[in-house]
Amino acid sequence: MNAAIPLWEIPSVPIVGTSQRFPVRHIYCVGRNYAAHAKEMGGDATKEPPFFFTKPADAIVAVEAGSVGHVRYPLATKNYHHEIELVVAIGEGGANIAEAEALRHVWGYAAGLDMTRRDLQNEMREKKRPWDIGKSFAQAAPIAPIHPVAQTGLLSRGAITLDVNGARRQQGDLSDMIWDVPHTLSFLSRYYELMPGDLVFSGTPAGVGAVVKGDRLDGRIEGLTPLSVVIE
Ligand code: MN
Repeated sequence: MNAAIPLWEIPSVPIVGTSQRFPVRHIYCVGRNYAAHAKEMGGDATKEPPFFFTKPADAIVAVEAGSVGHVRYPLATKNYHHEIELVVAIGEGGANIAEAEALRHVWGYAAGLDMTRRDLQNEMREKKRPWDIGKSFAQAAPIAPIHPVAQTGLLSRGAITLDVNGARRQQGDLSDMIWDVPHTLSFLSRYYELMPGDLVFSGTPAGVGAVVKGDRLDGRIEGLTPLSVVIE
């Protein structure tokens, strides 16, 4: 391309055990996928179908194994929340994917944070406006290295936790998801043609809360590389 402005790098995530990286095309996120979190947000998600929002690929903050990522406190919020989530990396695209076929499209898994400007999200929610301003902003998607599914096997259970400054804030189990990964991918692919390079953030367990500058976040999902970031 003869670019008229300086080109940027394709956002990408390290892959465990190789120097290759996973290029990120688009980020989908599932809302309210753990009953206890749906309740703390004022709903009963067990009675509703899944719903989705998106983040731009350049919201990724890729954190290398064994290092601590740096995340800037975002503009325009006074209530900046953590949501630890299992991230599913898509290796094979498709639309209208059958639930029974969905896991064939999974390339790997990682621990990620769906960082949220909760005050702006709630304000938009009350006005029945889109959530973008609360969810899609610079550095809103920190992520740890991706583990290929060929090495982990399919993840349907396992502890998922988040600590802030060493104190446990979020705790759950992947098996607590209301809509499991096959159902989520199948449902999502009815509305969007999934593409290689897409990431799907699969929802967060209960215990979301605010962080401030200087806080250290440690997210862990059983069997995956932990995700550590400091808010600056
Ligand atoms: Mn979330």
